[in-house]
Amino acid sequence: MNAKLQRYVLELAETFRFPEPVFVTRPSLPSLEEYMQALKPAWAQRWISNSGCLHQQLETELKHLLEVPFLNLFCNGSIALLIVLKALGLEKGNVITTPFTFPATVNVLHWCNLQPVFCDIQPHTYNLNPECLEERLTPETRAILPVHVFGTPCDIERIQSIADTYGLPVIYDAAHAFGVRFRGRSILTYGTASMVSFHATKVFTTAEGGAVACAQEDLYNRMQLLKNFGIANEDSVVVPGINGKMSELQAALGLTMLGVISSQKRAREHIAHIYSTRLAGEPGITLLKPMPNVESNFAYFPIRVNQEQFGLSRDLLYEVMKQFNVYCRKYFYPLCATLPWINELKQTSLPEAEAAANQVLCLPLYSDFAPEQASIICDILLQIGAYARRISL
Ligand SMILES: *Cc1c(COP(=O)(O)O)cnc(C)c1O
Repeated sequence: MNAKLQRYVLELAETFRFPEPVFVTRPSLPSLEEYMQALKPAWAQRWISNSGCLHQQLETELKHLLEVPFLNLFCNGSIALLIVLKALGLEKGNVITTPFTFPATVNVLHWCNLQPVFCDIQPHTYNLNPECLEERLTPETRAILPVHVFGTPCDIERIQSIADTYGLPVIYDAAHAFGVRFRGRSILTYGTASMVSFHATKVFTTAEGGAVACAQEDLYNRMQLLKNFGIANEDSVVVPGINGKMSELQAALGLTMLGVISSQKRAREHIAHIYSTRLAGEPGITLLKPMPNVESNFAYFPIRVNQEQFGLSRDLLYEVMKQFNVYCRKYFYPLCATLPWINELKQTSLPEAEAAANQVLCLPLYSDFAPEQASIICDILLQIGAYARRISL
């Protein structure tokens, strides 16, 4: 780091450094008493996994909350995604997906012997660009796996119409999209199936966990078999399944979270509003624009940093923020197309995805993050940017 900037950062940190580390997210947990209360039925029956009463209750409640016809719970989102691909009979061939995602999306393809074929993204949503989709299609294409990145809905209509033309299933990685609605409908009702994650970093959590929503009962039934070793009944094991089950301990945590979902969402919206208002118009900082017909879940707050205009690169800003005890995340860097076991970048030009991977930074956003703390983050960003421009780094 430039010595002048370092001196300025240290000076500013005297006023603005957070006493405790601030991470990009932190789960809001119920009290331990509440959690113990929720566990009681499982303890009483000595039933702690295998579709116990808490699992059944959570599945039913989430199905209503998320307004989907069928919902399977899983031990985590990655296994959920793996199982839905298996349940759809996707065993070899290519799957078109986005490089701008968490590694789980493409690693799951790898585990299923499916070859990811990357499609570039739209700079204004960070989602797979349907304009680039058709040219990536070949006779080997078996499915499309788009991601609702940061909870922003993909261009669902365009993707569906291409999928329909070529008779391909669309599986959405909706890991970020819990509770998002598009055109008055749950986002999870679009496509052939959607996977949502309940990992500790996601807006609804069971510590580890996930679910797949789908419209077809036979797909639901196949997933049911596959997540329980392929056991159909005591006497028959009918497919080579795996263990994808959610436990009662996870389900209990989920049940305690149901009551606070809407107040947590309002709290996140408030933080997002502070960031949007204070950072709007800042040179070199681009925010995601709210989209029409979308009810957001305010899961993430990504900013895009243009080095020339802001004064600092995304990477340097990330380092500077750490000196204030603020740990932002470079979602999604590195680009999934550059992972050594994937390395497909050589064949594909992905300019928008590469630019996003180098410029996007997610700011801390979670329901018990205090509004005053969000304001301080804005103070730091604005002052650092202004100083960097002044000394023209
Ligand atoms: C979190 C996440 C996953 C994986 O979910 P887990 O529940 O952690 O296995 C998959 N895809 C994306 C885009 C994610 O962010």
